[in-house]
Amino acid sequence: MTPDRREIEPVPDDWERALAIVAHPDDMEYGAAGAVAHWTGAGKRVTYVLVTRGETGIDALDPEECGRVREAEERASAAIVGVDTVDFLDHPDGLIEYGLPLRADLALAIRRHRPEVIITLNHRETWGGGRLNMADHRHVGLAALDAARDAANPWLFRAPDGPDAWSGTRFALIAGSSDASHFVDVSEEIERAIASLEAHARYLDHVGTDAREFLTSIAEQGGQASGVRYAASFELVWL
Ligand SMILES: [Zn+2]
Repeated sequence: MTPDRREIEPVPDDWERALAIVAHPDDMEYGAAGAVAHWTGAGKRVTYVLVTRGETGIDALDPEECGRVREAEERASAAIVGVDTVDFLDHPDGLIEYGLPLRADLALAIRRHRPEVIITLNHRETWGGGRLNMADHRHVGLAALDAARDAANPWLFRAPDGPDAWSGTRFALIAGSSDASHFVDVSEEIERAIASLEAHARYLDHVGTDAREFLTSIAEQGGQASGVRYAASFELVWL
């Protein structure tokens, strides 16, 4: 997650609508949500699509109850950074498969929301430094990139009365990449970013993460590479 010590560029901001596509409640909140707060504060619209409800994420909670708890935490968390639409696709948490059903669901979501920018999480095998990424993140991140192209092709995933093809997605921003190329200055939004992660109270209890310490540390590292106090870093992929 630490960007290289090289010049990285500001994320272009000449757009109006972004769609975040991630596997689990909390995936956006480990760093990207500060950028979302920045964008919504500037009048842009950001919508979240969650592939699961994170229902197998807490050992002590039955999946049915856990899914309800984590959905509520995600909606509260999203509201803190100015996001009022959070869709859940109900793929099985921990068992998301990369494949055509996932690509179809994501392509339809992209056609419905018509984003110029897609935000997702690292789809590679590691976070850098030899730390293994998990299958759900790998599958959703890659499918989100592929679905941006699928959404633009009117012959793929046609549904009666479904939304029209959408070819307006310009680029994807990959959070949690060890190859960050772009940044968003979140110096003004760091407190809201922390609050958005703290909204996952039940989950943080389970994993023992200190939201303030974690987010301040990665935002400082991002800031050092970007020449600002706090930054959210992304790898930008042109689509
Ligand atoms: Zn996750």
